[in-house]
Amino acid sequence: MTLAYVGLGANIGEPRRQLQTALKELNGLPKTRMTAASGLYRSAPVGHPDQPDFLNAVVELDTELSPDALLDNLQEIETAHGRERPFAGAPRTLDLDLLLYGDAALATPRLTVPHPRMHERAFVLKPLAEIAPLAAIPGHGKARDLLCACRGQLAERID
Ligand code: AMP
Repeated sequence: MTLAYVGLGANIGEPRRQLQTALKELNGLPKTRMTAASGLYRSAPVGHPDQPDFLNAVVELDTELSPDALLDNLQEIETAHGRERPFAGAPRTLDLDLLLYGDAALATPRLTVPHPRMHERAFVLKPLAEIAPLAAIPGHGKARDLLCACRGQLAERID
């Protein structure tokens, strides 16, 4: 079993309902147990500012799935939520990112772990630090310590 962390985000449709449904779906993944889930956070969009705010969360999964099989399952859930990819950074009904997979560092054509931008994003680090403050991001350090560097970014817990 490996502890993996998945980031959830949504900013069109009904973001709260989509995240709640996705949490249930993640909880039902094969060979996997959800061991922690953060609260919901509201964050300002990064990259393309002219779009609605996001809702975000992070979950901890104890899984026997390989990183690739886990990504397959995450992408199936995204697709079932009507996710389209018209352009990078576009608004999304549901985005699921594999943030960490144990202490693995992976770089394949379809999978980079740790997720390449997670260490500089408050909407990832705040919910991650809530459920796993000591989680280490290989090459960068602990979630809790990295948060100081992105103090200016809006990411507030809403429930
Ligand atoms: P996005 O449109 O932001 O959801 O990016 C999806 C693309 O990123 C897919 O083609 C994935 O294969 C790729 N990808 C690379 N690393 C990761 C990761 N750690 N988690 C999720 N998707 C990833």
